[in-house]
Amino acid sequence: MTAAQDDAIRLFRSLTGSAPAGVWSAPGRANLIGEHTDYNEGFVLPFAIAQRTFAAVGPRDDERIRVASTFSDEQVEVALDELDGLFSGPAGEAVRSGAVAEWAAYPLGVAWAALAARPDARATGLDIAIASDVPVGAGLSSSAAIEGAAAGALSDLWSLDLSLIDMAKIGRRAENEAVGAPTGIMDQVASVMGRVDAATFLDCRTLETRSVDLGLAGEGLALLVIDTRVTHAHSTGGYGDRRAACERGAAALGVPMLRDLGTDDLERARRTLDDETFRRVRHIVTENQRVLDAVRTLDASGPRAIGDLLVASHASMRDDFEISVPELDAAVDASLAAGAIGARMTGGGFGGSAIALVERAAVDAVSRAVAAAFDAAGFRAPHLFTVEPSEGVRRDA
Ligand code: ADP
Ligand code: MG
Repeated sequence: MTAAQDDAIRLFRSLTGSAPAGVWSAPGRANLIGEHTDYNEGFVLPFAIAQRTFAAVGPRDDERIRVASTFSDEQVEVALDELDGLFSGPAGEAVRSGAVAEWAAYPLGVAWAALAARPDARATGLDIAIASDVPVGAGLSSSAAIEGAAAGALSDLWSLDLSLIDMAKIGRRAENEAVGAPTGIMDQVASVMGRVDAATFLDCRTLETRSVDLGLAGEGLALLVIDTRVTHAHSTGGYGDRRAACERGAAALGVPMLRDLGTDDLERARRTLDDETFRRVRHIVTENQRVLDAVRTLDASGPRAIGDLLVASHASMRDDFEISVPELDAAVDASLAAGAIGARMTGGGFGGSAIALVERAAVDAVSRAVAAAFDAAGFRAPHLFTVEPSEGVRRDA
């Protein structure tokens, strides 16, 4: 049993004086390739990681739901029939008005969205105790992990029989409407559908998914995350600006979404669009193609063959989408110079992490080389750690 699972059970006991009926968990995630493609209804290829959020849960004999987390000193308790009043208003209103602490809106929002999806459910009151070893706010989606753990517990304890994609949709609805964070569905799908040594291909338009074997174990490879610890104040503005450029490009080219364009359309795009909008469009169109190519390449040739796609993805984000920063470029350049098979920034950009595909035996050497490059450039020391593609939502006890 991991420390976090133990912590969740201990918190449940201190809350209720008894043992939980069960423990459910869901992992964080990282994105292998496919950046900013989600809101263009394109393709992504994320994977679940070994770090997980655990929910120790037991029924109550009243109709109330109480949540507690090692993340916070406060507990939040509401009646089941209050959930709708809290969360069915404007997105995030219950959080903004202070009626619900933000962290509690994740699990309570999942309960609300689950009941909305299954109005005939015979829901009982619950105590929910949460603990996690997913780093919060580090780009590894602790938010999808807490949503997945809560959805797994409710599905079993309320006999909702939710499919994995149902759980992902419920998690996204909780995050979008109860918390008020406008995110796509990639994080939730990656978390709940994870499999050991595999990534999850997701078509963000059709929500079609496919588990894609990575084969890292057999090839003696590892995935190294380089957290630059850079957070840029303009990341929110930059994100909105890129979304707007994508919408502008799609409208000018007469398609509903950039997903509807292929690399064959780029010549026409170049003639039609101003240079900046063209480069934004080219990133999305080529990135979608790289995700498809990565899936095909993994299937046909295994993980050693995707290095160039990772490197091309980074160059596209650096030069066309312009969302990289010097620290991310240094992380990619230094890891490639030290022998990484491929590397790219991962996540929304303007800071955050890069990911490098490296020989297991070379993890230490690549890590040292990256740390030295950061030191030489006068950057803050990065956090370096490997991530293990792991199992999705599950019942642990
Ligand atoms: P990320 O998903 O990248 O870690 P987000 O801002 O999307 O960052 O989600 C982080 C938020 O999710 C936290 O601020 C907190 O409100 C909630 N959260 C995550 N993990 C936990 C936890 N173990 N207990 C309570 N709340 C959590
Ligand atoms: Mg998140």
